Amino acid sequence: MSFTSSLKSYSHSRLGTFENCRLSYKYKYIDHIETEIENTVEAFMGSRVHDTLELLYKRLMFEKLLTLQELFDFYNKAWDKEWSDGILIVRDELSAEDYRKTGLRMIRDYYNHYQPFDQARTIALENQDFYPLDDNYKMHIRIDRLADAGDGVYEIHDYKTSNTLPTQEKADADRQLALYSLWVRDQYKDAKKVRLIWHYLQFDKEIVSERSDEQLAELKKDILALIKDVEQETEFKPKTSALCSWCAFKPICPAWKHELSVEDKPVEDFLKDDGVRLANEYDQLSEKIAALEQQKAKVRDDLFLFGKQHKVDTVIGSDVKLKLWSMKVHKFPGKRDPDFEELKMTVKALGKYNEVSDLDTFALSRKMGSPEWSEDIKKTIRRFSHEDEVQRIYPRKR
Ligand code: SF4
Repeated sequence: MSFTSSLKSYSHSRLGTFENCRLSYKYKYIDHIETEIENTVEAFMGSRVHDTLELLYKRLMFEKLLTLQELFDFYNKAWDKEWSDGILIVRDELSAEDYRKTGLRMIRDYYNHYQPFDQARTIALENQDFYPLDDNYKMHIRIDRLADAGDGVYEIHDYKTSNTLPTQEKADADRQLALYSLWVRDQYKDAKKVRLIWHYLQFDKEIVSERSDEQLAELKKDILALIKDVEQETEFKPKTSALCSWCAFKPICPAWKHELSVEDKPVEDFLKDDGVRLANEYDQLSEKIAALEQQKAKVRDDLFLFGKQHKVDTVIGSDVKLKLWSMKVHKFPGKRDPDFEELKMTVKALGKYNEVSDLDTFALSRKMGSPEWSEDIKKTIRRFSHEDEVQRIYPRKR
């Protein structure tokens, strides 16, 4: 038994699922829930394109260059054989045929771009293995194509069929291929450099990145920290995002289950649903409360105006007595205001930071009104503030 066989295994996509939505991670990797949705059309098309490019290089390793038509035939045949009704098409405006043609275009563009495919010597295709992170964990490795570019330079090629082209910055921070480069360095002792190459087939573009030894050491630490988070997680809350449209667990997910259960109902039945009825009631009440709050604020302003005009601080109604209370305060920028950092530095420089509870702006305002701080200190800080008036009304039944 090899050393790695006793280690607990994770993969980049498993960790990615956890990062995207903890609940979908639980459904998939802990509960192992099977769904009616076998695959998404995007993933299906991606697999067909990967298989076709794998065949291209498999034959090239034996000096046989397949024609574009032979690749198209392989792709179309596999598409027809593997297609099933359980494959989800999210975008209503597109058909399976549109996706099939998109895959063909990707293969054509790739072929025309790289033929005669002599940029580097292919060493392995769809290579799978594990990379030990420490004495407990290993990461699954699956490299689309590994190539030797000579002089100790290895290339990890990854085919992407997604619809978005990442920036160089994103590619430089990518975990997947960087992780694979750890494995390459471990396996091929003559490796001086490992180039990470993504082929974004939708755009006929490649993005290249590399990692230093320091960056790879950091990466290992980050992955182990993430695994720790995974293993300590107990709540597995749903995290809704654009990805939900492609999530096979959407029909059972608490964030979507109710919506999906009523969305196709006729209006009458929809309105009779208990959830819909309660949600509507809550929404209407919230709107009413917001309107009343606005009305109340207007009456409060009028009461203070009345108090000022009549020089009174207590106003009575039929059953109520209202005590009007107000105080002038120095209003300081809050944590989200642009001047907050400068204020913080200034208060720290004056050695007063701890006296105002980590810059609680109410505490700051109180100090400005008290004799504890010298006029010089107040003058330095005053420029961050403006005068404001806090108003409160205390009602009592009479
Ligand atoms: S539908 Fe969205 S929120 Fe629900 S499990 Fe899937 S990804 Fe998570």
